[in-house]
Amino acid sequence: MKHYDLIVIGGGIGGSALAAVMAGAGKSVLLLEHSTQYEDRVRGEWIAPWGVAETRRIGLYDLLIGAGGHHLARHVSYDESRSPEESDARTLPLSIFAADVPGPLCIGHPHHCQTLFDEAKRRGAEALRGVKVTRIVAGAKPSVAYTHDGAEREAGATLIIGADGRMSAARDAAGIKLHQDKPHHWFAGLLVDGADGWADDLQAIGTEGDFGFLAFPQGKGRVRVYGGYALDQRGRFAGEDGARKFLEAFRMTSAPNNVHLAGATPAGPLFSYFNNDSWTDVPYAEGIVLVGDAAGWNDPISGLGLSITYRDVRIVTEILKASSDWSPKAFAPYAEERAERMRRLRFAAMLQAGLDMEFGDAARERRRRYHEASAADPTLGLHGFAIMGGPENAPPDIFTEAHRIRVLGA
Ligand SMILES: Cc1cc2nc3c(=O)[nH]c(=O)nc-3n(C[C@H](O)[C@H](O)[C@H](O)COP(=O)(O)OP(=O)(O)OC[C@H]3O[C@@H](n4cnc5c(N)ncnc54)[C@H](O)[C@@H]3O)c2cc1C
Repeated sequence: MKHYDLIVIGGGIGGSALAAVMAGAGKSVLLLEHSTQYEDRVRGEWIAPWGVAETRRIGLYDLLIGAGGHHLARHVSYDESRSPEESDARTLPLSIFAADVPGPLCIGHPHHCQTLFDEAKRRGAEALRGVKVTRIVAGAKPSVAYTHDGAEREAGATLIIGADGRMSAARDAAGIKLHQDKPHHWFAGLLVDGADGWADDLQAIGTEGDFGFLAFPQGKGRVRVYGGYALDQRGRFAGEDGARKFLEAFRMTSAPNNVHLAGATPAGPLFSYFNNDSWTDVPYAEGIVLVGDAAGWNDPISGLGLSITYRDVRIVTEILKASSDWSPKAFAPYAEERAERMRRLRFAAMLQAGLDMEFGDAARERRRRYHEASAADPTLGLHGFAIMGGPENAPPDIFTEAHRIRVLGA
């Protein structure tokens, strides 16, 4: 049985990035990815400024820029309670959230994964695709059994990294429990081409009627659009004309520029997920450490899964590089930082979803009050700063019941 320093299960963003960093540090790494090709599963393509800073700290930023990463410079929030001109007048520069970061970074998810996977291989990781993992053994002698190219194999490692996403088999093997809160709203996403009238550097969100939208341009008329709607509208965009109905929902009086999105051409599948938040108490056990979604995810309304994953990779690789002690106690600082980070981000997402993804008269009135009050007192919007600039950089009292009441009402 071949032995590695690390076996990484899952070659998405977290697994491939971690494999690249550790292979670059001279460790022997086996990276096992189930898929044979990365496909558009409607996943993260927008990295928050604090997440961009994390890509810098682990030395992967230049790689992403070289692979076509596209920075955004401006943000605007539209709302049915005010005119488009009022909203446009409050356009926010996005370079203010993290030092030396011009703004969020957008890069297509499948291409992002492939770029990192290739980099891991280039730096010396043994990186395999089309792998079926059949057994994961945690504990003092970690090992993984898998089939690849029709052959059954088994490998041992000093440590297994579980980077296998939401349905993590590594998490199950380690006996780590995933906590989940209730779904809050449906969230559908679609990649569109031909939105040439939409400014390449402008991200936007907005709510009108029974639909909330988000738009993140990727350059050259390509935009990733998302739409949120109520849980009781499950089949709203089902069927053959689902993508067309979805894009039609972007036509809003309060956001007239959305005509460029509504008139664009679908360039990928339309998938809907229910949005919720999840977490693990401790993201490691003897012989296994979890990173990224496997360790628990934030409600995608905030678009932070990639930033969270890159920070996981940065902290875990710092620990792995700092000493040869890879026993569970070495990862305690990771668990501690992640627990507080996810607690704060869960709170911020709860406020964001409560404002943007609830519909009807009461929700509309709540949003109107919020927009009016936050224009006079910007501290009301500091949860947005936690999302853009990093949860540790927002004042602690933002994550309290008192602040929730200030934002959403009693
Ligand atoms: C609708 C939606 C929109 C989102 N938008 C954003 C956004 O704009 N910005 C953002 O930052 N985040 C966003 N996210 C979240 C983000 O996509 C995830 O947090 C991120 O992809 C997590 O990366 P990961 O590497 O942990 O997991 P994944 O991306 O899920 O990767 C896991 C990998 O493991 C592989 N795998 C799984 N099981 C096995 C196994 N048993 N053996 C081998 N391989 C396996 C999979 O094939 C996959 O390649 C969004 C999520 C959703 C649902």
